[in-house]
Amino acid sequence: STSIESLEAYTNIVQEASLELDTDKMLIDSNFPQSGKIEFVNYSVRYRPDTKIVLNNLNILIQPGEKIGIVGRTGSGKSTLTLCLFRILEATTGQIMIDDIDISLIGLSLLRSIITVIPQDPTLIEGSLRENLDPSDKYTDESMIDCLKSLEIDYLLEEEGLNFMIKENGDNLSAGEKQLICMARAMIRKSKIIIMDEATSSIDYNTEQLIQKVILKNLKDSTVLTIAHRIKTILEYDKILVFDQGHLVEQGSPKELIEKKSGQFYGLYSQSHM
Ligand code: ATP
Ligand code: MG
Repeated sequence: STSIESLEAYTNIVQEASLELDTDKMLIDSNFPQSGKIEFVNYSVRYRPDTKIVLNNLNILIQPGEKIGIVGRTGSGKSTLTLCLFRILEATTGQIMIDDIDISLIGLSLLRSIITVIPQDPTLIEGSLRENLDPSDKYTDESMIDCLKSLEIDYLLEEEGLNFMIKENGDNLSAGEKQLICMARAMIRKSKIIIMDEATSSIDYNTEQLIQKVILKNLKDSTVLTIAHRIKTILEYDKILVFDQGHLVEQGSPKELIEKKSGQFYGLYSQSHM
């Protein structure tokens, strides 16, 4: 077994994808991605060569700027989608395209820099608000302050401005504030693709409403995928994707899916309205 393990270690090394490719510069020069269209084409994936397919032959077209809600039972594949977009998992079959470019042809550094994830429980770095919002020191204070205002968290600036110190793990902020700071970071970078993993708990109603308002009003030019745990969150979105055991079983506008009384989305919707 030792030799098999070392062979596996070896193949993992040789299969590790390139961080940078020659074509990246062309993409960067053309301001890629200009629109944030995402397409899954006959896309399937598994975690390891010897494990089952966890996303099965997906065909999905997401238009630039669309707000997409992703729902489904536990284990249906929602989080796996994020890993696929970042190519932490590589396609077993098919492709993912961003603005018509096959993401397997993009260096990992560039690919991962164009997508912003807002995790359920974001970890912020111990440091100033400025360092957290703009780690590569590229943007003006003014643009950061404007952004905090539109997110209604400019009260954080009251005493020390952008020098406000965030403690280790963001312990002096609420879960909602941490998500809003991640969202501010995405806005400042003008990320065209944002993936939001809705917090399962610990976010108060007002913050949740605020986050959804920002997604719909302030992120008009970004494509946003929200992994939603509450149906109410995504009722004003453009499109809902319903996953079940790795299959995309329903897709459509919230209205269309609510009208399908035999569908899974309708089931979730009526439960959430009881
Ligand atoms: P939840 O609502 O609980 O977050 P999910 O929809 O995000 O669930 P995924 O985490 O995407 O579900 O899991 C999809 C499938 O992939 C499940 O069958 C799960 O067991 C499997 N899976 C997840 N992570 C791994 C892993 N690291 N190795 C192997 N299989 C995995
Ligand atoms: Mg998940």
